[in-house]
Amino acid sequence: MIIEKITVSPIQENCYIVGDEESHAGVIIDPGAEASRILEKVEHLGLTIEKIVNTHGHVDHISAAEEVKAALEVKLHMHPGDEMYLPNIEETAQMFGISGARNPTLDVFLTDGDRIDVGGFTIEVIHAPGHTPGSCVLKVGDDVFCGDLVFSGSIGRTDLPGGDYNTIIDSLERVILPMGDDVRLHPGHGPSTTVAVERRFNPFLQGLRPQENRSGPM
Ligand SMILES: [Zn+2]
Ligand SMILES: [Zn+2]
Repeated sequence: MIIEKITVSPIQENCYIVGDEESHAGVIIDPGAEASRILEKVEHLGLTIEKIVNTHGHVDHISAAEEVKAALEVKLHMHPGDEMYLPNIEETAQMFGISGARNPTLDVFLTDGDRIDVGGFTIEVIHAPGHTPGSCVLKVGDDVFCGDLVFSGSIGRTDLPGGDYNTIIDSLERVILPMGDDVRLHPGHGPSTTVAVERRFNPFLQGLRPQENRSGPM
């Protein structure tokens, strides 16, 4: 697996390029800004990008999506729960000092349980709302792209429009805590970590219990 992280914009968002060494097929996760840097990296890696898949629709994760889409002629996949943010991306980007933003069009709706086949690997989509209504975790084997659900030592904020604290706690118990210790977490901000480390040291996960058999909130 190729996993390349590019940290973009003043908000320091992690865009990930995930690809397969054999097939040279890949996806871009969360093209938050600086489309030219992302496209240069794709070129350097020699990958053919098949799609853009977003963990959620916040401005810092999606401002470069439209430009990358146009350059690579690919579609944007995201949960429809976050489509409401898209008409305001340009305006919000200006407030946060993110340059070059365009309002993206959502092409393909993600649903909980979707399995997206890219040459040589599969992305499992797990709906994990709370930070936003449409937040999803993208699991590729033991590598999990968790957006702003959980960070090294912290969790996503829930005080922004569409956020809900009880819902993010439910998602952490239902989606993250049942995962194996060795699963690697690649968050939307900050360094990568593992489920074992967060289970043990993340103060926001202490006292939570894995919920293996509960179905997700609909
Ligand atoms: Zn966010
Ligand atoms: Zn973010």
